[in-house]
Amino acid sequence: MRYISTRGQAPALGFEEAMLSGLARDGGLYLPETVPTLDHGEIAGLAGRPYEEVAFTVMRPFIGESFGEEELGELIARAYEGFGHAARAPLVQLAPDHFLLELFHGPTLAFKDFAMQLIGQLFQAALARRGERVTIVGATSGDTGSAAIEAFRGLENVDVLILFPEGRVSEVQRKQMTTPGESNVHALAVEGDFDTCQALLKDMFNDFAFRDEVALAGVNSINWARVLAQVVYYFTAATSLGAPMRPVRFTVPTGNFGDIFAGLIARKMGLPIERLIIATNQNDILHRTLETGAYRRGEVVPSISPSMDIQVSSNFERALYYAHDGDSAAVAAQMEALAGGQGGFTIPPGAINWLREHFASGRASEEETMATIKTTYLTSSEVICPHTAVGVKVAREFLAESPAPMITLATAHPAKFPDAVEKATGIRPELPARLARQFEAEERQTRVAGDLAALKALIRERLSS
Ligand SMILES: *Cc1c(COP(=O)(O)O)cnc(C)c1O
Repeated sequence: MRYISTRGQAPALGFEEAMLSGLARDGGLYLPETVPTLDHGEIAGLAGRPYEEVAFTVMRPFIGESFGEEELGELIARAYEGFGHAARAPLVQLAPDHFLLELFHGPTLAFKDFAMQLIGQLFQAALARRGERVTIVGATSGDTGSAAIEAFRGLENVDVLILFPEGRVSEVQRKQMTTPGESNVHALAVEGDFDTCQALLKDMFNDFAFRDEVALAGVNSINWARVLAQVVYYFTAATSLGAPMRPVRFTVPTGNFGDIFAGLIARKMGLPIERLIIATNQNDILHRTLETGAYRRGEVVPSISPSMDIQVSSNFERALYYAHDGDSAAVAAQMEALAGGQGGFTIPPGAINWLREHFASGRASEEETMATIKTTYLTSSEVICPHTAVGVKVAREFLAESPAPMITLATAHPAKFPDAVEKATGIRPELPARLARQFEAEERQTRVAGDLAALKALIRERLSS
């Protein structure tokens, strides 16, 4: 399997190289040259199988020769053995035709563990085989950073540096990043918002001399291996509810568009997903884009669902590539317009029609999010986090549209956002004991200006000490 850049100016790579480099050298994102499919019988055969088996079947054709069959099976097993639920991604029923897919039973209690735990295993195996060392740098709006640190802490061949917006992540999220004591873990508090962090990361990756000097590797949600790992739970959930005989719908609380893009890949592989619904909070660039046909960045307004406080949605570039039917020059021009003075671009009619055929969308205000946490608790006794509530609110708007079961992705454990949940329900959700213990450890973090030169100097200093 070969991977090509959405901007068409970087060489095609195999799975392992695309995974280790993250962002393509032309600034684009990697996509598989073709998407392999599973036939009706193969999909039907996944129903009720252990998560790890489904993961192997779904991911194997994308990985090609990079990892042996037995090796891949072992790495998948190791990635998910630390999860606190035998099903890994269990379904819970909210209403007759509405289900929650609980993706928060991993070590940091958010869905990002599904991809990050696997990528940790894949990186470790690949680097050990090559005798190489890398510096993993990630930008986080909260959950990616802790998931990356948890996946890479203590690994021999990796340093992990995480940029997070100072003061804009929850206390639980911050402590998950600052309390691990391993010397290869570096939590960096950036003066700025998440988009500042993400822009710094992009600039750093586009500084090729520095990129080579410290062997930068990215594990943000632009990394193809992460998207791939997330395709798996669309299959486990859908087949549990009758696919491929019965179509299903998914609503996905969305920020960087990684999780929902994985749903698009699942559909391209042959899973009958009737509707794929983008749910945004008040930072609603994606919802506005589908409504107006123009992708225009605004100011990030902090919300109670901080992991979705994003105005530039990195993985949307992958959807644009498909919407433009593989016209990488058109994608590159749009991305240039976004980065330059224009701050956005208009999507031509053919491409916007494609997007509207493949995605629906909705948004939830802060009040609606709080009200949904409350009504969900009152009508089903389920305590949900604010991100999940954004999804549930939007999903409800579409419920009556079709008899196909609706599956809303529950992206984080409610105890990661206890203040909002307590305010809405009167119940303060408890952290699992293992996390509560970890948080008694001392916090370590370094402040850094939202400036590339300052960041590079800090990274050089850290790596040499
Ligand atoms: C990261 C995150 C999201 C958004 O996921 P994307 O892949 O960036 O769209 C939603 N909810 C939670 C809890 C998250 O951590």
